[in-house]
Amino acid sequence: MNGDESTVSITVVGASGDLAKKKIFPALFALYYEGFLPKHFTIFGYARSKMTDAELRNMFFSLGFRENCDEKMDEFLKRCFYHSGQYDSQENFAALDKKLMAHEVIRTLPENIYRIRKVTCKKMHYSSASSGNGWTRVIVEKPFGRDSESSAAMTKSLKQYLKEDQIFRIDHYLGKELVENLSVLRFSNLIFEPLWSRQYIRNVQLIFSEDFGTEGRGGYFSFLYRHLNIMQNHLLQILALFAMETPVSLDAEDTRNEKVKVLRSMRPLRLEDVVTGQYKSHTKGGVSYPAYTDDKTVSKDSLTPTFAAAALFIDNARWDGIRVQFRHVPDLDRATNELVIRVQPDEAIYLKINNKVPGYSKEIPDAYERLLLDAIEGERRLFIRSDELDAAWALFTPLLKELEEKKIIPEYYPYGSRGPVGAHYLAARYNVRWG
Ligand code: NDP
Repeated sequence: MNGDESTVSITVVGASGDLAKKKIFPALFALYYEGFLPKHFTIFGYARSKMTDAELRNMFFSLGFRENCDEKMDEFLKRCFYHSGQYDSQENFAALDKKLMAHEVIRTLPENIYRIRKVTCKKMHYSSASSGNGWTRVIVEKPFGRDSESSAAMTKSLKQYLKEDQIFRIDHYLGKELVENLSVLRFSNLIFEPLWSRQYIRNVQLIFSEDFGTEGRGGYFSFLYRHLNIMQNHLLQILALFAMETPVSLDAEDTRNEKVKVLRSMRPLRLEDVVTGQYKSHTKGGVSYPAYTDDKTVSKDSLTPTFAAAALFIDNARWDGIRVQFRHVPDLDRATNELVIRVQPDEAIYLKINNKVPGYSKEIPDAYERLLLDAIEGERRLFIRSDELDAAWALFTPLLKELEEKKIIPEYYPYGSRGPVGAHYLAARYNVRWG
């Protein structure tokens, strides 16, 4: 982004929500603060809630994105506006477009205008998607459907108005520097690449853990089987990067082609290779931990899992016979002797070696910042292409349907433990050490 005369107009749809407040606006401010936004930019928040520009600005100012930056913050907020409207109203979007155009026209040459529309709703009218001489890019946040059909329907509706290269499906895990570094780690370190196959690796375990329960946010867990969706989203993406063949180049399409190939060479998940669990109440060291169903926002007979472990198989020459174990558990200390690539809470990469060579870790900037900048610059590598998404859903959809239809009851496990005993049996069945 070097053209001083270029303009970027960003619309954040769902601007009254949590994600906008906690992640999107702070990331946009950080980009501005660090000088990554062009001189002329305008940001519009869009949602149904009624709010004035001043109220939007106050909401963000009160968050205090960064210390000692009030002046910069003032300048930034002067470029932030709010427009209230319905998501399925052509008229409301046209009114927003008019306001955006007014800002753009005042500031710069039409050749350099481009926009990003962030949408979350398939019924939305992209009233100005094809206007002007610039570009329109739409960043889409999860969920990308709830199974193969709904995901395909969402893609179809997006493609009614947009071309594939205008759609940026965001998975903030892919924006984490460490996930990005996975390719560098693999392909630029001669010590690793020769070992990266079935010959030396017996199984790969991908673990997503959180060190908290629902704490009044039952809804957080309730989107179908959230944990299975975390596997389908983040973990499968990371797996694809981990297991793919060397791409012809690190360009977006070459990398995405290799990811799709790995996903397509995997077998769909089978019910017998999955264990789901739900945490129950227990007391440890005099402290009582409530059960998932004790949460007021959760129904007493909820079958929603708070834990899931799954074994998947990659059927290609490099990985034939390799089991990939996914699991999702509350946070726990892990044993030594591992190469650890930690994506959250703090990103780090370190090699745990028996002779106690100290680990190496590094703090990294926020993933949304990185991804929003990539979208502005048209860099697609870290976004999910439609066929990648289709391949990922194809692996999980039959299982999700079966879990729902058969009303599979999750196994209970104590809050804070390594998960239900069934997960240990699953690991033992495949002769794999657990955790
Ligand atoms: P919130 O519930 O805090 O906010 C929802 C936002 O969406 C509001 O701005 C609301 O605005 C708007 N909205 C549009 N249609 C509806 C509807 N039918 N019901 C309720 N709200 C609606 O959610 P978040 O901001 O946390 O999340 C927004 C989206 O991003 C969700 O799809 C979520 O799954 C996804 N997401 C969130 C993450 C997070 O960290 N929070 C992480 C990854 C994805 P209004 O009512 O004013 O129109």
